[in-house]
Amino acid sequence: MNLIDGKRIAQDVVAELASEIARLEGPKPSIAFIRVGEDPASVSYVRSKNRTAETIGITPLLIELPDTVTQEELFAQVDKLNADPAVNGILIQSPLPSHLDEQTAFNRISVEKDVDGFHTSNAGRLVQEDPDGFVSCTPAGILEICHREGISLEGKHVVVIGRSLIVGKTFALLAMQKGPQANATVTVCHSRTRNLPEIARTADVIVAAIGRPGFVTPDMVREGAVVIDVGINRVENPSAKRGYRIVGDVDFQAVAPLASRITPVPGGVGPMTVAMLMKNTFKAYKLQATS
Ligand code: NAD
Repeated sequence: MNLIDGKRIAQDVVAELASEIARLEGPKPSIAFIRVGEDPASVSYVRSKNRTAETIGITPLLIELPDTVTQEELFAQVDKLNADPAVNGILIQSPLPSHLDEQTAFNRISVEKDVDGFHTSNAGRLVQEDPDGFVSCTPAGILEICHREGISLEGKHVVVIGRSLIVGKTFALLAMQKGPQANATVTVCHSRTRNLPEIARTADVIVAAIGRPGFVTPDMVREGAVVIDVGINRVENPSAKRGYRIVGDVDFQAVAPLASRITPVPGGVGPMTVAMLMKNTFKAYKLQATS
């Protein structure tokens, strides 16, 4: 079967962390979640991260702030967590209300506790290939999938579609790094790319992070390519319980027969994000213990 079971891989990562953390003596790792407002998707994401942390033995701390919070109040909260040695990781759930600048808020988090990897310095550390930096969780999760599924990127042509910092650009940087899990030749396509199907057809590995349902069609995929679908899109479906269903950026039914390996949506890249957040938190804990 050519399907990549991201849910199982994420469970493996979580189980490995849980067993390592169970063996720790003394205080357990801890992560603080700051959620501003009651955006339903944010409430659900933070709940899921909180639950996974508890399962693993990472102590979660939930800070809920009203959507009227000022930048000064938010920063005061971040500063308090930065100064607290019992807190190893800090995550500010995106999106923030429009009166708050996200990047400024992410940069307020101490670089050593920035387990989401969105701090400007951690982006720089990724470019410099510093192994002690934190890489944002979804691109790190894609690399982890490749590693655990024996998909070597070495010398391969990886075509990333989408250039966002949260996924496309960061994954491109990871894949081109010098190192046994990377060493790819990377092309990044985006909304201004000419001849995108032609470029994609030359890919050994396609990573689709566009945010458009079914964007990647069979004419863009060479037979035998690996297809990683990052998209999470809601499409109306009156027969579904919630009135919609979740689909990826790849036309799965049409592309799957061509691909040597393919991630489904849901159940592919999605579950890896929370697992990698926990991995980053444990890494922060270990680095802080030795610094
Ligand atoms: P984004 O909107 O920030 O970026 C989309 C990128 O796609 C842009 O760089 C843009 O240039 C490119 N693009 C848009 N239209 C295009 C076109 N017609 N041709 C070529 N390129 C085009 O989105 P994002 O945050 O990178 O997210 C992308 C998708 O991944 C979304 O569906 C999102 O929900 C999903 N996502 C999933 C996870 C996860 O699995 N945990 C995490 C983050 C994002």
